[in-house]
Amino acid sequence: MSTTSASLVRREVAGLPAYDPGADPDEVAALSGAARVIKLSNNESPFGASPAVAEAVRRWLADGVSRYPDPTGKRLAEAIGKSLGVPAERVVLGNGSENILELLCQAVLDPGDLVTTQAPGFSLHEIFPRMMGARVEKVPVTAEFGFDAAAWRAALAAGPKLVFLANPCNPTGAMLSVGELKRVVADTPESALLVLDEAYCEFAHPHPEYPDGLAMLRGQDRPWIVLRTFSKAYGLAGIRVGFGIASDAALVQALDRVRTPYNVNQLAQAAAIAALGDHAHLADTVRRTGVELARVADRWRGKGFRVAPSSANFLFIDTGRSADRVAEELHRTGIVVKAWREPGYENFIRASLSTPEDNDVFVRRLAEICAKGTR
Ligand SMILES: *Cc1c(COP(=O)(O)O)cnc(C)c1O
Repeated sequence: MSTTSASLVRREVAGLPAYDPGADPDEVAALSGAARVIKLSNNESPFGASPAVAEAVRRWLADGVSRYPDPTGKRLAEAIGKSLGVPAERVVLGNGSENILELLCQAVLDPGDLVTTQAPGFSLHEIFPRMMGARVEKVPVTAEFGFDAAAWRAALAAGPKLVFLANPCNPTGAMLSVGELKRVVADTPESALLVLDEAYCEFAHPHPEYPDGLAMLRGQDRPWIVLRTFSKAYGLAGIRVGFGIASDAALVQALDRVRTPYNVNQLAQAAAIAALGDHAHLADTVRRTGVELARVADRWRGKGFRVAPSSANFLFIDTGRSADRVAEELHRTGIVVKAWREPGYENFIRASLSTPEDNDVFVRRLAEICAKGTR
């Protein structure tokens, strides 16, 4: 009998759910015949990257592409360290912060270890631990999409080795307040690695109740890491670069051992340095997104839809009917959204905020689809 590839694949891998990136915009373009697809499925910035990034890309091309990147990413790590007041040796870089989620699981998890995270949540907070054979316990949010402190406290008492907590959360956009984050930190066993995923923190920073996770964890004598990304507010999703600030240099060194040596390419390093230096562009993106967040959420609520209280650059909307069907109808009109598929949220879509014009088209089309009574 010949060996099939399927018989070679590890059991944990064969059972992994596939990551769902949302519908393919090329297919949506073909299906809808729309001249321009409005892509609201990946929480990308409609305002693009800083002009300084284009300049960095041109310089990078002029220098030529034949050399390997700096495997330590020292210039970028130093720039990040300087901007946040931490030594560069505690900064870890990744091919997107997703890459760091993966490296953390590879470095820390043994088969059977327990990982605690939230539901609904970011699928990679579950997929990467399961890849390592870990068990994942997902703590549900409250009925109002809030953080369930009592449920978290019970889950943390079970002794996880790794905790993945996003603030603000994806897909709800809801944030933990200063007091809530303090409680999770206090309830997390000191033997666990606490991973605070702040992919959307720039959007939440203006909120007076949004905690400075880094400042809160900085004084803690325990293992932790705060993850950030250039993909969302900085508008560099296509270039792939994220970073983490770790409790200690030893954690960074452990991740160095499991990562591929050139995981962050030279273009990404140069683009991120340029993006980091343009405070005005970041502030402008955050301000414009905040205006749209308030305006679009109000419009949905005014139409009687349930919308999670978001502090990020997207909305989690209860359509009151099959989200898969709603998404399909939106795709036919050239708008890409993400139908949520976690149990209990089959009627929800997650839609990124875009420009005022795009958001208006989205509100109008979705309202029309729901008024037709698709179920
Ligand atoms: C988008 C996102 C990330 C990371 O994105 P990268 O592009 O890999 O940096 C991480 N966590 C959450 C919760 C996200 O939504």
